[in-house]
Amino acid sequence: MSWKQILGHDRIIHQFANAWQTGRLGHAYLFAGPPGIGKQSLARELANTLLCERKTSSFASCGECAGCHLFTANTHPDYLYATKPADKNEFPIKQVRELIDQFGMKSLRGGYKIAVLDDAETLSTEAANAFLKTLEEPPPKAMLILLSRVDSEQMLPTIRSRCQVVRFSALLPADVREILSRHGVDDPILRDRLARLGGGSPGQAIELNDPDLWAFRNILVGLLKSEQIDSLEFTKQWQQFIDEAGKESGPKRKRLALVLKLFVNLLQDAVRIVHGVPPLVADSELHEILSKFAERVGLDKIDRWTERAIAADDQNERYVQIDLILEAFADFLGR
Ligand SMILES: [Zn+2]
Repeated sequence: MSWKQILGHDRIIHQFANAWQTGRLGHAYLFAGPPGIGKQSLARELANTLLCERKTSSFASCGECAGCHLFTANTHPDYLYATKPADKNEFPIKQVRELIDQFGMKSLRGGYKIAVLDDAETLSTEAANAFLKTLEEPPPKAMLILLSRVDSEQMLPTIRSRCQVVRFSALLPADVREILSRHGVDDPILRDRLARLGGGSPGQAIELNDPDLWAFRNILVGLLKSEQIDSLEFTKQWQQFIDEAGKESGPKRKRLALVLKLFVNLLQDAVRIVHGVPPLVADSELHEILSKFAERVGLDKIDRWTERAIAADDQNERYVQIDLILEAFADFLGR
């Protein structure tokens, strides 16, 4: 990879380049920003650049030296990466301690030692405290990068106060479309639709690029068309769609979240249409269906449904059992 692959974060890249050129790189950073926005990609490229063994005056990895080869093959001994297991709602302390132990060891190739910890917003107080010594007395030539999907203000103060905070903001639609194009989304209409729905997060937009998901959206549209919602039938269909994601809970929860996102978008597009504002995603065919739906149920009900969908998403984030979330949600819609 190279810095060119990272779109929308030029300011951050320049800040790191300046810090590197003037010998002012920090030893602990907190990258904060919404999911799928490029925090991990930037952390990886930063690590690759610092671990590159070719001496040059430019802030870039050469892609050819032994350090770069090891990094690309994911076998660089001085690069550590840890992420929370998908089925846990808290970062396991054991995993944190292992990372800290390895981080404290001498660099094996004589250069930088870099550790990236993803999902840092899920660190417990105990796990965060395990970092204190490392953050206060970092090993020489070491850099710890924490990635968090919540704003730094919501992070534990013990972490926040000892890291340099780097805030990542949403990308421009053009940058998201470009990233989608690089990921093989060739259809410009689909690209545009995904970029709008992704709300400045290329990661979200890529996740939404799933034909099965869009097929399931027709079931959601069917709900908005029906006078009386059959909660049981809807729960069954939704459960089946989620189960098709596999056995692991991570992909299942992701699917649940994506369905809720599409549902909220349909409701919001209905509201836009009522107010005479162009819908974000709905095409002309759907325009009429949403318009009729809004007329039939009224804006108050649409607001209540939207709130309920957001609450279900929140439950999903808090690892409430999936079938309970589905049942309660479908039951609410059927009332
Ligand atoms: Zn290199």
